[in-house]
Amino acid sequence: MSDTKYIFVTGGVTSSLGKGIIAASLAKLLQARGYKTTIQKLDPYINVDPGTLNPYEHGECYVTDDGAETDLDLGHYERFLNVRTSQANNVTTGRIYQSVIEKERRGEFLGKTVQVVPHITNEIKYRVQLLGNSGEYDMVITEIGGTVGDIESLPYIEAVRQLLWELGESNGIVIHLTLVPYLSAAGELKTKPTQHSVKTLMESGIKADILVCRTEHEIPDELKEKLALFCNVKREAVIQSIDASTIYDVPILMQEEGLDTVVLQKLGLPNNTEPDLTQWNEFLNRHKNPKHEVTIGLIGKYVELQDSYKSILESLIHAGAANEVRVNIRSIHSEHLSEKNLVKKLNLLDGVIVAPGFGKRGIIGKIRAVQYARENGIPFLGICLGMQMAVIEYARNVLGLKDANSTEMDASTSDPVISLMEEQKNVINKGGTMRLGAWDCELAENSIVRKVYNDVRSISERHRHRYEFNDAYKAPLEEAGLKASGINKETGLVEIIELEDHPWFIGVQYHPEYKSTVANPHPLFVGFVKAALVQKLKRTSASLA
Ligand code: GLN
Repeated sequence: MSDTKYIFVTGGVTSSLGKGIIAASLAKLLQARGYKTTIQKLDPYINVDPGTLNPYEHGECYVTDDGAETDLDLGHYERFLNVRTSQANNVTTGRIYQSVIEKERRGEFLGKTVQVVPHITNEIKYRVQLLGNSGEYDMVITEIGGTVGDIESLPYIEAVRQLLWELGESNGIVIHLTLVPYLSAAGELKTKPTQHSVKTLMESGIKADILVCRTEHEIPDELKEKLALFCNVKREAVIQSIDASTIYDVPILMQEEGLDTVVLQKLGLPNNTEPDLTQWNEFLNRHKNPKHEVTIGLIGKYVELQDSYKSILESLIHAGAANEVRVNIRSIHSEHLSEKNLVKKLNLLDGVIVAPGFGKRGIIGKIRAVQYARENGIPFLGICLGMQMAVIEYARNVLGLKDANSTEMDASTSDPVISLMEEQKNVINKGGTMRLGAWDCELAENSIVRKVYNDVRSISERHRHRYEFNDAYKAPLEEAGLKASGINKETGLVEIIELEDHPWFIGVQYHPEYKSTVANPHPLFVGFVKAALVQKLKRTSASLA
């Protein structure tokens, strides 16, 4: 058995308590003490991956370098830790069952009856230990999705119980995240839901080692003592997690509460160093003390749910901090963007992002937004579908190809400027048919994007789409001024477009937002926010003159 230590994070009382942020914050603190740390998320739903889920269900689908379509919590892990994750970091019930059933079909169970215990639980245990056994990590933090007591979570909880028993004391611990609600009528914080949740966990044979208690008000000492006594944990293992103004404060708050110290204690590890959070604190400082502000319009069709564009919003925070600028986001529903209200909705924006997306709904509004940004010199960043909309807009309004479209939206368009590649045309299965994960891209010399990427020649970015820029239109579009400034060398596919005679107009077929982290803000977002500020300052000085 490896020396890797395992930390399991379970949740009680209610969902949406922010297990992912707590797990990422703890990982950050352990990493800042020099431990090689990774995080894994186990999702109890039956989809094999979240790739086929509508963003309204679970928010954005996050994509890793190896092309795994994963839960958005992996985005938090990467942004906090600046460490790459992969398929192994996100496992769903669907995937577990898929591999067990495939093994059964191959006859690997030698005629045995295949059951939840031991076959499903063994598969879960195997997946949990995969990262630990790689030898790359000192600590693996495994977050169990859902809430204890859910039918779906039971096999995971049982697998954790077995693992704890097998690993032995101080090699595996459980952190249970619960809610301590405030009843305003009584003017009191209540511990009963936490007591019940810990009891539910005990019924499955698991004793929580540490309680992290989400709360809107400070938990007084005597209440912490009560929680400790009734929930059978040490007093120092009752950690308060109070609402924070930004998720990036949570590692600091957890450090103040001593979460990392008690974790090390329970794991039998020395606690003779302090976490080095210099870089993190510098980022926080810049984020909280901006010198300027800009307003960016985010044009998308899932804007009702902030989680749908999680990585884009976080990338703008990183880029804002890098530029010492507060980035205000105005979410604009593309379906509500009409000829009539266009100017009113867009004219005070310092920059426009047209978001990724699938399907026809809302694309007219996106095309209008691109045109407005192009014609009015507003910095523009088109991401994936947003880049495709920029190509369509240019073809229609500059080249005069009025019918130009993507074959995703209109299969019989006479000018398919965005279309499927030949080899994709016969695929009907929606799951797993996209261009996914990291692809290389060569940046054209003397291009704007080359400068944005600090003059590197070749970059690697993550993709998640089916449709592509149609090469047949490259020459006429370039002649008309829309340059293809990033190309994948092997396939010849156009990955980036840009306009020369515009302050900042870039469309990318990939998703830069998946790679922006606190330690490494993404150059495209940094460049975009900077351009938005420059344009804003120009505008204000022009209006003063
Ligand atoms: N729907 C487009 C495609 O499949 C764009 C996808 C996206 O924005 N992620 O190509």
